Amino acid sequence: MKKKLSPIQIVRAVIQLIAFVTVPALFITVFSATGSIIISIIGSTFVLTDYLGSLLLVLGVFLVTIIFGRYFCGFICSFGAMQDLLYAFGKLIPFKVKIPEKADKYIKFLKYAVLAFVAVGVWGFSVTGSVVWSPWTVFGIYTSLDAWSSLEYFLTLGGVLLLLIIIGSLFIERFFCKYLCPLGAIFSLLSRTRLYPIKRRSEECGNCKLCTSKCSMSIPLYKYDEVSSGECINCMKCTEICQKERISAYTLPAISGTLAVTIIAGLYYAGMFTNTQSDAESSNKNAASVTQSEESGIYKDGTYSGTGKGFRGSTKVTVTVENGNISDITVDSFKDDDEFFSRAENGVIPAVISSQSTDVDAVSGATFSSNGIKEAVADALGIEFTNPNDTAEQGHGGRHSR
Ligand code: SF4
Ligand code: SF4
Repeated sequence: MKKKLSPIQIVRAVIQLIAFVTVPALFITVFSATGSIIISIIGSTFVLTDYLGSLLLVLGVFLVTIIFGRYFCGFICSFGAMQDLLYAFGKLIPFKVKIPEKADKYIKFLKYAVLAFVAVGVWGFSVTGSVVWSPWTVFGIYTSLDAWSSLEYFLTLGGVLLLLIIIGSLFIERFFCKYLCPLGAIFSLLSRTRLYPIKRRSEECGNCKLCTSKCSMSIPLYKYDEVSSGECINCMKCTEICQKERISAYTLPAISGTLAVTIIAGLYYAGMFTNTQSDAESSNKNAASVTQSEESGIYKDGTYSGTGKGFRGSTKVTVTVENGNISDITVDSFKDDDEFFSRAENGVIPAVISSQSTDVDAVSGATFSSNGIKEAVADALGIEFTNPNDTAEQGHGGRHSR
């Protein structure tokens, strides 16, 4: 008999597709925004206006998860959607991998170790989310079709890890989500007390374990009357499989799912709008200070071009030097997403002109684009610059400068 797709799975698939096309790197944004807020609070550099956009997004996603559960993972995250797709393809492969329940329980703790590693190494010691080791970043890069012209990122550690995750996801459903995702680890802790868990009338189930066998996250549902596990991603595969309707969601999942997704999307775009406003203000402030630093004269007059490596590929700029000072920087081309790039452009370029140096802070939440611009300017001016985006040699020669 041909299996019919249930309404909730249709809604879920449509939302996953829209999210994949419109916000493919949202999980990276949420995670790095969480990190930068924490770092700024610990380092006493937190300024509400600078972080308002990130705060709206992070608090919104966390609150939705606390109230409704992990709709972010089940419906929005493109890394999760990629794994769903891979697992669907993996079903065509005759070879299967079954992780025993006990082993699965312990392997799931790995993601908390990954979270601790990132919190200490990346957030604590400011090791950047370089493509050298982050599979998320490589995935983010290749969600842009332009980036496929160069497959070099698959040769980084992040690329190799991504390939391993892809292979794992063919055989184990939500392989990365279950065992490795640091954001999933945070969500797992937050969603334990959610208001709308899944209910199961276990006294009527006997020895049936059908819902357990269908659970995307391998939760041993047969043990529970109520699914309070933080692993649940609200995919609703368990509720649709039981013909006797002994397991069900508290609310209509299609409605609560759509509501949760709408709240997150609304906060994301509200955050972006807030960021754009505050970036424009800081850009004006920087522009005002440019005039004050024009006496120094450290570069040779002329117009120079340079290239740097951004998030999805190269960034090209033209730098104009007048009276020994950088007077203008124009972006000739870039491959990064508009929303990230324009934030980096509005923050970094005025700061470089103002300080007459590429030694300026990257824009929070647009670090890769910022580094690409800084590297391109340094390349044009022949200044030494090590791009944290990629430690590999890129052959930048010093030219036209003194
Ligand atoms: S666990 Fe991580 S990768 Fe999986 S869906 Fe959630 S945020 Fe995305
Ligand atoms: S318990 Fe049900 S809704 Fe939750 S992850 Fe498992 S199958 Fe999906």
